[in-house]
Order: sequence, then structure tokens, then C-alpha cells
Amino acid sequence: MPVYLRFSDDNRLGLIVEGYLLALLNAIRRSVILYTPVMAVDEVYIIENNSPLYDEMLAHRLGMVPFDSEEALTKYKRPEECSGDERDCTTKVYLVKKVESGESPTWVYTKDLKSDDPEVKPISGDIPIVLLAQGQSVSLEAKLRLGYGIEHAKFIPVSVAVVRYYPKVEIAEDCVKAAEVCPRKVFEVSDEKIKVANEEDCILCEECVKVCGEKVRITAVENKYIFELESTGVLRPKTILREAIKSLRRKLQEFSEKVGVLS
Ligand code: SF4
Repeated sequence: MPVYLRFSDDNRLGLIVEGYLLALLNAIRRSVILYTPVMAVDEVYIIENNSPLYDEMLAHRLGMVPFDSEEALTKYKRPEECSGDERDCTTKVYLVKKVESGESPTWVYTKDLKSDDPEVKPISGDIPIVLLAQGQSVSLEAKLRLGYGIEHAKFIPVSVAVVRYYPKVEIAEDCVKAAEVCPRKVFEVSDEKIKVANEEDCILCEECVKVCGEKVRITAVENKYIFELESTGVLRPKTILREAIKSLRRKLQEFSEKVGVLS
């Protein structure tokens, strides 16, 4: 049952998977979204806030800031393991910013957040949080912890996680119009003849069928799938896949233990 790497970079991972049940791949995909631990702001203590944003909106914005969670996975405990010392489970960031009278309005960015743990920091310092006018100020302390996407969207590590059928594209060489309508550049035309050049990028949209009719045949290969995910930047794609599979394995273990107790 082969699994091939289709592409892999800092943010994306693509696999071609043959011979595995679609239901199993979908369980892994769902575990990627719902059960991969990610660090995010979970509690905010507002000390001072006379910015245009209500306390709740400011807290919500901080919650949605993506934090680098790669090192946090080994340093902090997962939510289900956290019952004792808070220091094993949480870290803090601080924000203190004031615009004096006479100064021009100033954006507060994620780079203004100061972290207790230098390895847990926003993935970009250029995410705007709030615009402060003259005389306005913000002072707050925020607590971060590992959490799962099933609790809140702020803990979801991916912008995309899909499983799709592996496509098979066949076309008569005179239907060059298909190249113009194909949104994924699956075809290549030379000397007024069309050929399939990039079959794996086909998304089965059937736009080519609308212009070529029976001259094109789009089908899905049985028992062969394309698995793709795109990270938001909080974790490397391979880490996401590894942690998702670990979570799934833990759940299966827990389930089998419970069944064992019942029998
Ligand atoms: S089905 Fe869509 S993506 Fe696939 S070859 Fe046809 S037009 Fe391109």
C-alpha cells in the first residue's frame, strides 16, 4: 500500500495514497483539524484599555493571533494532562502601549507583544491588533496554552486539509479549447494538439467536459487519493500530520481500553 510524497515545503504537504480506506484518510484529516495541539491566547487580563476596541474584541483578536507552537509541543502539557502546576501548561505575553498627546495615531502590532517564552511568539510581527489615537493606551497580560481545534478555531493549525480522488484525464488531441477553460492548467497545447500534462492537479470540476463533450473523459482512480494540507504557520506540515496521527492513536487506545473494561 504505497504512499508517495507529492510536494513538501515550509507550509504545505501533499501525499498520494494508494490502497487505504477513504474513511481512514478522512479520520486523519479530521484529526489534523480537530486534535492537533496548538498554542494560542486563552485568557486575557486587561489592565488598561481606552482604545477604540472593547475589551472583549481586543481579547478575541489576541486569541486569533497565530503563535509558533513547534517548540511548545515538547515544553508544555496538553490540556488533558494539565491538572497540577500551571507553569507546565501555560506561558504569558504582555502588551503595554501608549500614544502620548501630540503623537500621531499608531498601530499596535503583534511585534509589540513581549513573551515570557522567546520560543512562543507570533508567527509574524506585522499583524495589526489595534490603532491607537492620541492619548489612548493599552496595557494587558495574556495567558497562552495548548489546545485543540475541537475547542475553538484559534487552535486549528491548518487553513486547508483535504482528501480528494486521484483523477484520470483522457482527451482527444483536437479539442484544444479545454486548455483555455481548465482552471488548473492540466493540459498543454503544441502544434494545435492538446495533451494531458499535469493530471494530478485536476480537481474534477468538469469545465473541460462543457466545451469538449465526449472528447474528454474525467474519472477517478479507484482506491487512490490525494491528501493535502496547508499550515497556518503555527506548526510545520509534517509535525501537524505526526501529531494528528498520534492523537488518533491515543483515541483508539482509549477506546480499546474502555471496551476491554466493559467485556
Ligand atoms: S475537470 Fe476541471 S481541472 Fe480537471 S482537466 Fe477538466 S477542466 Fe481541468
